[in-house]
Amino acid sequence: MTFRANHLLGIETLGPDEIVTLLDLAESYVDLNRAGNKHAEVLGGMTQVNMFFEASTRTQASFEIAGKRLGADVMNMAMAASSIKKGETLIDTAMTLNAMHPDLLVVRHPHSGAVDLLSQKVNCAVLNAGDGRHEHPTQALLDALTIRRSKGRLHRLNIAICGDIAHSRVARSNILLLGKLENRVRLVGPTTLMPSGVADLGVEVYDDMRDGLAGCDVVMMLRLQKERMDGGFIPSEREYYHRYGLDTEKLAHAKEDAIVMHPGPMNRGVEIDGLLADDINRSVIQDQVEMGVAVRMAAMDLLAQNLRASREAA
Ligand code: ASP
Repeated sequence: MTFRANHLLGIETLGPDEIVTLLDLAESYVDLNRAGNKHAEVLGGMTQVNMFFEASTRTQASFEIAGKRLGADVMNMAMAASSIKKGETLIDTAMTLNAMHPDLLVVRHPHSGAVDLLSQKVNCAVLNAGDGRHEHPTQALLDALTIRRSKGRLHRLNIAICGDIAHSRVARSNILLLGKLENRVRLVGPTTLMPSGVADLGVEVYDDMRDGLAGCDVVMMLRLQKERMDGGFIPSEREYYHRYGLDTEKLAHAKEDAIVMHPGPMNRGVEIDGLLADDINRSVIQDQVEMGVAVRMAAMDLLAQNLRASREAA
């Protein structure tokens, strides 16, 4: 097995071989999840705690289902009602939980780097479910699995990531992963929504959708992340949709068989046309959700194996 990591904090620290190992294992979980009996006991006896300091629908539900299907005891911390509200620091909360001997800690936090910091203080495997605008590794892995299954490969593809790149941890993790597997990544969006240092990311940058999408195999749309904006980045949503919203006319510039992706939550009529998002001949958005459970099962399985090995060696 080629998976050395003890935590899943980001794509940055994973090798291409570790990514492929995880995706291959996830394939077997796709099959399991489609079967009548969805249980495998690889996390039997283990405790998984989900700590979400930011809103989540897909990711939290998906981690919970993944843990339960693998036989873990899963607890969702009600963060709104936790002692964080009484002024306890993230580290104190983590230390308190650590004393209860969890095996897997799944954390989403609004601050970049917070999950990494926490992983240094606890004795269990930590999975980053999104930290600020830094990384969202399981999203990039589920996107990769969706692309690989749909296109039959995960290298030498032209992939356009479009919209609010500057505020997106999804974009960052995807740029890293797709680059490690030798794909050509283009970022498409208004210059106000490009991150600083974009020139060092090894990508091509376009501010026109038609040019950016020309000849692409994959078109990945992103939500305008208003919760991370502290000023006016776009003239108006109407204007934004006109220039950057994906509709069939703009998609016609990509390859004929190009697929459309979106991590959700989607704003129909802002970054994507609602009918196109629902078009099962082009959109793989529901596949992304399905792959999310399988990828999270694979990630927790691999981390649990490494955790057991390190405990036995200690
Ligand atoms: N769900 C993704 C995230 O948590 C994307 C988004 O919120 O727009 O980053």
